[in-house]
Amino acid sequence: MRKATFLTALALVLAVCVASMAHAGKLDDIKQRGKLICGVKDAVVPFGYVDEKTNQIVGMDIDVCKYIADKLGVGLELKPVTSATRIPMVAQGSIDIAAATMTHKYSRDDVIDFSITYFMDGQKLLVKKGGGIKSVADLAGKKVGTAKGSTSEKNIKTAQPQCKVLSFEGYPQAFLALKQGKVKAVTTDSTILLGLRNSDPNPEQWEIVGDYISAEPYGLGLVENDSDFRDFVNKSLAEMWVSGDYQKTYNKWFGPDTKYYLPLQWQMEIWPF
Ligand code: GLU
Repeated sequence: MRKATFLTALALVLAVCVASMAHAGKLDDIKQRGKLICGVKDAVVPFGYVDEKTNQIVGMDIDVCKYIADKLGVGLELKPVTSATRIPMVAQGSIDIAAATMTHKYSRDDVIDFSITYFMDGQKLLVKKGGGIKSVADLAGKKVGTAKGSTSEKNIKTAQPQCKVLSFEGYPQAFLALKQGKVKAVTTDSTILLGLRNSDPNPEQWEIVGDYISAEPYGLGLVENDSDFRDFVNKSLAEMWVSGDYQKTYNKWFGPDTKYYLPLQWQMEIWPF
Protein backbone atom coordinates (compact mmCIF):
# COMPACT_ATOMS: atom_id res chain seq x y z
CA MET A 1 0.00 0.00 0.00
CA ARG A 2 1.33 3.45 -0.90
CA LYS A 3 1.94 5.76 2.04
CA ALA A 4 -0.78 8.23 0.97
CA THR A 5 -3.36 5.42 0.59
CA PHE A 6 -2.40 4.02 3.97
CA LEU A 7 -2.84 7.41 5.66
CA THR A 8 -6.24 7.93 4.00
CA ALA A 9 -7.37 4.48 5.18
CA LEU A 10 -6.12 5.23 8.70
CA ALA A 11 -7.98 8.57 8.76
CA LEU A 12 -11.15 6.80 7.66
CA VAL A 13 -10.86 4.17 10.40
CA LEU A 14 -10.27 6.91 13.00
CA ALA A 15 -13.25 8.92 11.75
CA VAL A 16 -15.52 5.86 12.02
CA CYS A 17 -14.22 5.20 15.56
CA VAL A 18 -14.82 8.80 16.67
CA ALA A 19 -18.29 8.83 15.08
CA SER A 20 -19.30 5.60 16.80
CA MET A 21 -17.93 6.87 20.15
CA ALA A 22 -19.95 10.06 19.74
CA HIS A 23 -23.14 8.04 19.24
CA ALA A 24 -22.55 5.50 21.98
CA GLY A 25 -24.95 6.80 24.61
CA LYS A 26 -27.89 5.59 26.65
CA LEU A 27 -30.31 5.84 23.73
CA ASP A 28 -28.21 3.43 21.65
CA ASP A 29 -27.63 1.13 24.63
CA ILE A 30 -31.36 0.91 25.36
CA LYS A 31 -32.33 0.32 21.72
CA GLN A 32 -29.68 -2.37 21.32
CA ARG A 33 -30.78 -4.03 24.56
CA GLY A 34 -34.42 -3.79 23.51
CA LYS A 35 -35.63 -2.61 26.90
CA LEU A 36 -35.59 0.41 29.18
CA ILE A 37 -34.54 -0.37 32.76
CA CYS A 38 -36.33 1.82 35.30
CA GLY A 39 -35.71 1.97 39.02
CA VAL A 40 -39.03 2.37 40.83
CA LYS A 41 -40.37 2.18 44.36
CA ASP A 42 -42.19 -1.06 45.21
CA ALA A 43 -43.88 -0.01 48.47
CA VAL A 44 -45.03 3.57 47.84
CA VAL A 45 -48.76 3.66 47.02
CA PRO A 46 -49.76 4.86 44.42
CA PHE A 47 -46.42 5.77 42.81
CA GLY A 48 -44.84 2.29 42.79
CA TYR A 49 -46.15 -0.72 44.69
CA VAL A 50 -46.93 -4.41 44.25
CA ASP A 51 -50.48 -5.08 43.06
CA GLU A 52 -51.72 -7.91 45.29
CA LYS A 53 -53.83 -9.45 42.53
CA THR A 54 -51.21 -9.58 39.78
CA ASN A 55 -48.02 -9.50 41.89
CA GLN A 56 -46.71 -6.84 39.47
CA ILE A 57 -45.26 -3.45 40.39
CA VAL A 58 -47.73 -0.76 39.31
CA GLY A 59 -48.24 2.96 39.90
CA MET A 60 -47.93 6.48 38.53
CA ASP A 61 -44.12 6.28 38.19
CA ILE A 62 -44.40 2.97 36.34
CA ASP A 63 -46.86 4.46 33.83
CA VAL A 64 -44.46 7.36 33.19
CA CYS A 65 -41.68 4.81 32.50
CA LYS A 66 -43.98 2.81 30.23
CA TYR A 67 -44.79 5.94 28.22
CA ILE A 68 -41.07 6.61 27.65
CA ALA A 69 -40.35 2.95 26.80
CA ASP A 70 -43.18 3.02 24.24
CA LYS A 71 -41.76 6.21 22.70
CA LEU A 72 -38.43 4.41 22.38
CA GLY A 73 -40.15 1.35 20.91
CA VAL A 74 -38.63 -0.97 23.54
CA GLY A 75 -39.83 -3.13 26.43
CA LEU A 76 -39.71 -2.11 30.09
CA GLU A 77 -37.87 -3.77 32.97
CA LEU A 78 -38.50 -2.56 36.52
CA LYS A 79 -35.97 -2.74 39.33
CA PRO A 80 -37.02 -1.87 42.89
CA VAL A 81 -35.08 1.01 44.50
CA THR A 82 -35.24 2.77 47.84
CA SER A 83 -34.73 6.45 48.62
CA ALA A 84 -31.12 5.62 49.56
CA THR A 85 -30.22 3.33 46.61
CA ARG A 86 -31.79 5.14 43.62
CA ILE A 87 -29.04 7.75 43.03
CA PRO A 88 -26.09 5.28 43.26
CA MET A 89 -27.99 2.90 40.93
CA VAL A 90 -28.38 5.61 38.27
CA ALA A 91 -24.74 6.67 38.70
CA GLN A 92 -23.49 3.07 38.36
CA GLY A 93 -25.68 2.47 35.30
CA SER A 94 -27.66 -0.44 36.74
CA ILE A 95 -30.85 1.51 35.88
CA ASP A 96 -31.43 3.91 32.96
CA ILE A 97 -34.00 6.05 34.77
CA ALA A 98 -34.98 6.44 38.43
CA ALA A 99 -38.73 7.13 38.49
CA ALA A 100 -39.01 6.95 42.24
CA THR A 101 -40.77 9.90 43.92
CA MET A 102 -37.45 11.72 43.74
CA THR A 103 -37.17 15.44 44.34
CA HIS A 104 -34.82 17.33 42.07
CA LYS A 105 -32.42 19.20 44.36
CA TYR A 106 -29.30 21.05 43.24
CA SER A 107 -27.25 19.06 45.75
CA ARG A 108 -28.34 15.83 43.99
CA ASP A 109 -27.09 17.22 40.64
CA ASP A 110 -23.49 16.50 41.62
CA VAL A 111 -23.87 12.79 40.90
CA ILE A 112 -26.71 12.43 38.37
CA ASP A 113 -28.86 14.56 36.05
CA PHE A 114 -32.60 15.15 36.25
CA SER A 115 -35.45 15.53 33.79
CA ILE A 116 -37.86 18.45 33.89
CA THR A 117 -40.39 18.35 36.75
CA TYR A 118 -43.04 15.67 36.16
CA PHE A 119 -44.82 15.79 39.54
CA MET A 120 -45.16 18.45 42.21
CA ASP A 121 -45.63 17.96 45.94
CA GLY A 122 -44.58 19.20 49.38
CA GLN A 123 -43.83 17.71 52.80
CA LYS A 124 -46.36 17.25 55.62
CA LEU A 125 -47.01 15.05 58.68
CA LEU A 126 -49.10 11.91 59.15
CA VAL A 127 -50.24 11.48 62.75
CA LYS A 128 -52.71 9.56 64.90
CA LYS A 129 -56.07 11.37 64.98
CA GLY A 130 -56.56 13.02 68.35
CA GLY A 131 -52.94 12.29 69.31
CA GLY A 132 -52.15 15.92 70.04
CA ILE A 133 -49.85 16.65 67.06
CA LYS A 134 -51.22 19.35 64.78
CA SER A 135 -48.07 20.86 63.30
CA VAL A 136 -44.26 20.61 63.36
CA ALA A 137 -44.25 22.94 66.38
CA ASP A 138 -45.85 20.12 68.43
CA LEU A 139 -42.97 17.77 67.55
CA ALA A 140 -40.41 19.44 69.85
CA GLY A 141 -38.85 16.67 71.95
CA LYS A 142 -40.80 13.99 70.00
CA LYS A 143 -39.71 11.20 67.64
CA VAL A 144 -40.57 11.36 63.92
CA GLY A 145 -40.22 8.56 61.36
CA THR A 146 -39.18 8.92 57.72
CA ALA A 147 -37.08 7.17 55.05
CA LYS A 148 -33.30 6.99 54.86
CA GLY A 149 -31.83 9.04 52.00
CA SER A 150 -34.93 11.23 51.55
CA THR A 151 -35.22 15.00 51.46
CA SER A 152 -37.85 14.54 54.21
CA GLU A 153 -35.09 13.54 56.66
CA LYS A 154 -33.25 16.81 56.15
CA ASN A 155 -36.29 19.09 55.86
CA ILE A 156 -37.80 17.99 59.18
CA LYS A 157 -34.51 18.58 61.03
CA THR A 158 -34.51 22.14 59.68
CA ALA A 159 -38.22 22.73 60.36
CA GLN A 160 -38.08 21.30 63.90
CA PRO A 161 -34.50 21.07 65.23
CA GLN A 162 -35.81 19.76 68.55
CA CYS A 163 -37.35 16.54 67.25
CA LYS A 164 -35.56 13.19 66.98
CA VAL A 165 -35.63 11.74 63.47
CA LEU A 166 -35.77 7.95 63.07
CA SER A 167 -34.89 6.92 59.51
CA PHE A 168 -36.30 3.67 58.16
CA GLU A 169 -35.66 1.72 54.96
CA GLY A 170 -39.00 2.93 53.59
CA TYR A 171 -42.28 4.64 54.49
CA PRO A 172 -44.30 1.50 55.37
CA GLN A 173 -41.76 0.78 58.14
CA ALA A 174 -42.09 4.36 59.42
CA PHE A 175 -45.88 3.99 59.41
CA LEU A 176 -45.58 0.72 61.35
CA ALA A 177 -43.48 2.59 63.94
CA LEU A 178 -46.29 5.18 64.21
CA LYS A 179 -48.85 2.39 64.74
CA GLN A 180 -46.62 0.85 67.42
CA GLY A 181 -46.28 4.23 69.17
CA LYS A 182 -42.52 4.35 68.54
CA VAL A 183 -42.83 7.69 66.71
CA LYS A 184 -45.39 10.50 66.99
CA ALA A 185 -45.53 11.25 63.26
CA VAL A 186 -44.42 10.08 59.83
CA THR A 187 -43.12 12.84 57.62
CA THR A 188 -42.64 12.97 53.85
CA ASP A 189 -44.37 14.23 50.70
CA SER A 190 -48.11 14.70 51.23
CA THR A 191 -49.16 12.31 48.41
CA ILE A 192 -47.03 9.51 49.87
CA LEU A 193 -48.71 10.16 53.25
CA LEU A 194 -52.11 10.08 51.49
CA GLY A 195 -51.14 6.71 49.98
CA LEU A 196 -50.15 5.33 53.40
CA ARG A 197 -53.28 6.63 55.11
CA ASN A 198 -55.85 5.69 52.47
CA SER A 199 -54.48 2.20 51.79
CA ASP A 200 -54.64 1.40 55.51
CA PRO A 201 -57.55 -0.79 56.69
CA ASN A 202 -58.49 1.99 59.16
CA PRO A 203 -57.77 5.30 57.44
CA GLU A 204 -60.05 7.25 59.80
CA GLN A 205 -57.54 6.67 62.63
CA TRP A 206 -54.87 8.76 60.87
CA GLU A 207 -54.68 12.32 59.66
CA ILE A 208 -52.41 14.45 57.52
CA VAL A 209 -51.67 17.72 59.32
CA GLY A 210 -49.75 20.97 59.21
CA ASP A 211 -48.62 23.33 56.47
CA TYR A 212 -46.26 22.25 53.73
CA ILE A 213 -42.74 22.47 55.12
CA SER A 214 -41.03 22.17 51.70
CA ALA A 215 -41.53 22.13 47.95
CA GLU A 216 -40.82 18.75 46.34
CA PRO A 217 -40.64 18.92 42.54
CA TYR A 218 -40.07 15.37 41.23
CA GLY A 219 -37.60 14.72 38.41
CA LEU A 220 -36.58 11.50 36.70
CA GLY A 221 -33.01 10.58 37.69
CA LEU A 222 -30.77 10.18 34.62
CA VAL A 223 -27.12 9.41 34.04
CA GLU A 224 -24.81 12.44 34.18
CA ASN A 225 -23.79 14.15 30.91
CA ASP A 226 -25.90 12.36 28.29
CA SER A 227 -27.81 15.21 26.74
CA ASP A 228 -29.29 13.16 23.84
CA PHE A 229 -30.97 10.87 26.35
CA ARG A 230 -32.01 13.74 28.62
CA ASP A 231 -33.51 15.63 25.65
CA PHE A 232 -35.43 12.50 24.63
CA VAL A 233 -36.82 11.98 28.13
CA ASN A 234 -37.77 15.66 28.50
CA LYS A 235 -39.48 15.71 25.11
CA SER A 236 -41.37 12.52 25.97
CA LEU A 237 -42.62 14.07 29.23
CA ALA A 238 -43.70 17.23 27.38
CA GLU A 239 -45.51 15.12 24.75
CA MET A 240 -47.19 13.15 27.52
CA TRP A 241 -48.48 16.41 29.00
CA VAL A 242 -49.51 18.11 25.72
CA SER A 243 -51.30 15.00 24.38
CA GLY A 244 -53.37 14.70 27.57
CA ASP A 245 -51.86 11.30 28.39
CA TYR A 246 -50.28 12.71 31.54
CA GLN A 247 -53.65 13.97 32.82
CA LYS A 248 -55.25 10.60 31.98
CA THR A 249 -52.51 8.77 33.88
CA TYR A 250 -52.71 11.23 36.76
CA ASN A 251 -56.46 10.67 37.04
CA LYS A 252 -55.96 6.91 37.01
CA TRP A 253 -53.99 7.23 40.27
CA PHE A 254 -55.14 10.51 41.83
CA GLY A 255 -58.49 11.23 40.16
CA PRO A 256 -61.89 11.62 41.87
CA ASP A 257 -62.68 7.89 41.39
CA THR A 258 -59.56 6.75 43.26
CA LYS A 259 -58.77 6.35 46.96
CA TYR A 260 -56.08 9.02 46.59
CA TYR A 261 -58.05 11.93 45.17
CA LEU A 262 -55.95 15.03 44.78
CA PRO A 263 -56.76 17.66 42.12
CA LEU A 264 -53.91 18.39 39.70
CA GLN A 265 -52.75 21.83 40.81
CA TRP A 266 -49.56 22.46 38.86
CA GLN A 267 -48.51 22.64 35.22
CA MET A 268 -45.55 21.08 33.49
CA GLU A 269 -43.16 23.61 31.95
CA ILE A 270 -43.66 23.15 28.22
CA TRP A 271 -41.23 24.54 25.64
CA PRO A 272 -42.54 25.02 22.09
CA PHE A 273 -42.07 22.00 19.80
N1 GLU B 1 -39.44 13.31 47.36
C1 GLU B 1 -38.61 13.11 48.50
C2 GLU B 1 -37.22 12.64 48.11
O1 GLU B 1 -36.89 12.61 46.99
C3 GLU B 1 -39.22 12.18 49.52
C4 GLU B 1 -39.80 10.93 48.96
C5 GLU B 1 -38.81 9.79 48.83
O2 GLU B 1 -38.10 9.46 49.80
O3 GLU B 1 -38.76 9.20 47.76
O4 GLU B 1 -36.41 12.33 48.90
